[in-house]
Amino acid sequence: MTKAVIAIHGGAGAITRAQLSPEKELLYIKALSEIVEAGQALLEAGGTALDAVTEAVRMLEECPLFNAGIGAVFTHDGTHELDACIMDGNTLEAGAVAGVSHIRNPILAARKVLEHSPHVLLIGKGAENFAEQQGLEPVSPDIFFTQQRWDQLQSARANQQTVLDHDEPINPGTKFGTVGAVALDKHGNLAAATSTGGMTNKMPGRVGDSPIIGAGCYANNANVAVSCTGTGEVFMKTLAAYDIAALMEYGGLSLHQATERVVMEKLPALQGSGGVIAIDSEGNVALPFNSEGMYRGYGYVGDAPSVGIYQSQES
Ligand code: ASP
Repeated sequence: MTKAVIAIHGGAGAITRAQLSPEKELLYIKALSEIVEAGQALLEAGGTALDAVTEAVRMLEECPLFNAGIGAVFTHDGTHELDACIMDGNTLEAGAVAGVSHIRNPILAARKVLEHSPHVLLIGKGAENFAEQQGLEPVSPDIFFTQQRWDQLQSARANQQTVLDHDEPINPGTKFGTVGAVALDKHGNLAAATSTGGMTNKMPGRVGDSPIIGAGCYANNANVAVSCTGTGEVFMKTLAAYDIAALMEYGGLSLHQATERVVMEKLPALQGSGGVIAIDSEGNVALPFNSEGMYRGYGYVGDAPSVGIYQSQES
């Protein structure tokens, strides 16, 4: 039987020890550990990889520390437009939503698209109507508000910047982006999920890599499950998540080689920064990033979770 495992991320960026107070660091470590543990428990009980990544991302969306769901960043117009996607490596079924403002947990809407629609990606009002029909209560966008994100928008507007959470010099305490999860269950199935508020001060209507299958999220039982975080436009142009799968499938690269090639060579060649979390069909885990830090964690069923924020740190 396969050794089940889950990995999660809470975004990558210019996160250094000097910028994060010990109290804040503890908050992140605690949140990451709890979410990995929840995923491990689900997998241990025989749950599917698809259920584990759905639940892990839902929990990350609920946590205001991360830029997805509650705590999402603002567009230039001061609105929220959220994106999410999920893919089942067993069936290659996928579901995604983009540009939604009235869905508390976009990942749950993406899961509904996967299970109950003939489509892969629904946007805006259509996605919101579909989610409501599927029983997801519509919410006021006010629930996504956090003061920190509002202040970020004001600085970004003043500097006329469109800011990726990762690299922005605005508020050193708030450098994190998208969230995601990948998992391998006891039955040998892989799944991946990604959810984001996008970029601070982004143009209304802008959609990044996160809800695009093959760019910010991909899973195939034959090789790998991947969830990305970083400069979305570059992950789209390089089809980063699928590229890792293709390097493994056609190029015969190992998980480690394929993720390093994409994160350390192909993305930086186009000024792309960020990272990925990936699990292959044998249960190997890779969490590479080319930024200063990435909120991340993973855990095999039966083991203690391992979480990290900065470079060369797994605790
Ligand atoms: N990739 C996300 C986007 O471009 C941002 C992030 O990962 O922080 O929307």
